[in-house]
Amino acid sequence: MNNRPKVAFYWCASCGGCEEAVVDLAEKIIDVVSLVDIVFWPVAMDYKLSDVEALPDNSITVSFINGGIRLSEHEKVVRLLRQKSKLVVAYGACACWGGIPGLANQYSREEILERVYLTTPTTANPEKIMPPQDGYAKLGDVKIEVPTFLPELKPLDEVIDVDYYIPGCPPTPEVTWNAINVLLSGKLPDKGTVIGASNRSLCDECPLNKTKPENVLIKEFKRVVNYSPRADTCLLAQGLPCLGPVTRGGCGALCVKANMPCTGCFGPLENIHDYGGKALSFLASILDYENEEEIKREISKLPDVSGLIYKYTLPKSLLKNLLRSVRK
Ligand code: SF4
Ligand code: SF4
Repeated sequence: MNNRPKVAFYWCASCGGCEEAVVDLAEKIIDVVSLVDIVFWPVAMDYKLSDVEALPDNSITVSFINGGIRLSEHEKVVRLLRQKSKLVVAYGACACWGGIPGLANQYSREEILERVYLTTPTTANPEKIMPPQDGYAKLGDVKIEVPTFLPELKPLDEVIDVDYYIPGCPPTPEVTWNAINVLLSGKLPDKGTVIGASNRSLCDECPLNKTKPENVLIKEFKRVVNYSPRADTCLLAQGLPCLGPVTRGGCGALCVKANMPCTGCFGPLENIHDYGGKALSFLASILDYENEEEIKREISKLPDVSGLIYKYTLPKSLLKNLLRSVRK
């Protein structure tokens, strides 16, 4: 047995993009594999949960966990990884704050199951078969244990203790590589720190920043579905709701470089407790009206305001499930 650091990867309620992001390290992944032993990575390697259970406590140097916690199985595996790991890293927006799957917290578990299994236009389920919620299913004569769908999606740190956070949807290869180097350097930052990304806003690294006026003021918001932005001018100054000013940098402004406004996947800057609240107050502040009603009118023209301002952070927001009761 060698003494190389042991690393685990696990995915919870995830689209798979964060797993792709690790593979996107490309040739650097060979460097990573030569520095560490990967002891668990269900998407890529044939280790079983029993292999992890057999490891001594605290023997995994670092576990990277992506996705939010939505199934009983996620809870079980992340608790096991916490027990076996010295460090746990929330990898990607879903693990950090709930991410896009967290928007489903605007609906109850029953509403989600009914929609998915019974009422979508493409569903054919005449016998109205629903997933069992008692944790068991019958396979022929055999009773097997199956995961249950939890009442809501939770960010990772609401289920287990988390040491570090790597933001992004998904984190870019550069951010992942930076974070791996921080973790392997032996000089660990303070617990709870965001690693691999910038501590400044996205605007600071955006190539269009020099065209952003000191005080942006607009009369109405535009949308990329019916407006083609110029590539040489700050998107916010053109009226697109770019969230760069309130979002942590580090991604290299990839979306803006593709003429798409920032949607906030690197999450809040330090000391911002509610990303959506900050985003909403920022958007309201650039509307060039004296009258509050006129500002409300323009904000309400934005389709799906909660999806815009809380796209990645709803389960971590101050509002949490309040939006569900407001919607009813
Ligand atoms: S953070 Fe983005 S890329 Fe990663 S699992 Fe969530 S939705 Fe997918
Ligand atoms: S385009 Fe967006 S990220 Fe770039 S400077 Fe303007 S507001 Fe900031």
